[in-house]
Amino acid sequence: MPDTLRQAIRDVVDFPKPGIIFKDITPILSDAKLLRRSVELLVDTVSEHQIDKVAGIDARGFIFGAPAAIALNAGFVPIRKQGKLPWETHSLSYTLEYGTNTIEVHKDAIKPGEKVLLIDDLLATGGTAAAAIELLRTLGAETVCASFLVELSFLEGRSKLALDNVQSIITF
Ligand code: 5GP
Repeated sequence: MPDTLRQAIRDVVDFPKPGIIFKDITPILSDAKLLRRSVELLVDTVSEHQIDKVAGIDARGFIFGAPAAIALNAGFVPIRKQGKLPWETHSLSYTLEYGTNTIEVHKDAIKPGEKVLLIDDLLATGGTAAAAIELLRTLGAETVCASFLVELSFLEGRSKLALDNVQSIITF
């Protein structure tokens, strides 16, 4: 099945800017079997752990994170881009190739010591996930695992994550 998933991913040249080849995962979303299987495989990455919360990264991490949370009988916590969350937040800025990005989480979203699975659609340079893991640490969460549908392994993003347990379903 990971092969079928891999084949469904579409390369979009020069998106969102010239020189970038974007991995478009929307063909997986629009296929009932592939969508279900993606969520099942992400859930399987933590089969031996009791997870309290699934944290999903804005925005495609929400698509996979919420159904994974339901399957794991866990709560769901959105990690959002700056200015989107209505209540009190912790925020963290990280550097991109050009400029910076800021992500936020509600201060009361996770209790200290709770076990968290972090989910996003794709791990590229690792900057976003590294910041998310740091943000979860600020809340006192224990990030048990970070799971991605797709990993661009040639960018070595996982080396940026201060986490032993990093899982991906499809690797390019
Ligand atoms: P990173 O911080 O690891 O460089 O980038 C990962 C973040 O950017 C993720 O939130 C992911 O959704 C998004 N992203 C970067 N490149 C791609 C891509 O080619 N395809 C998709 N679907 N998302 C990407």
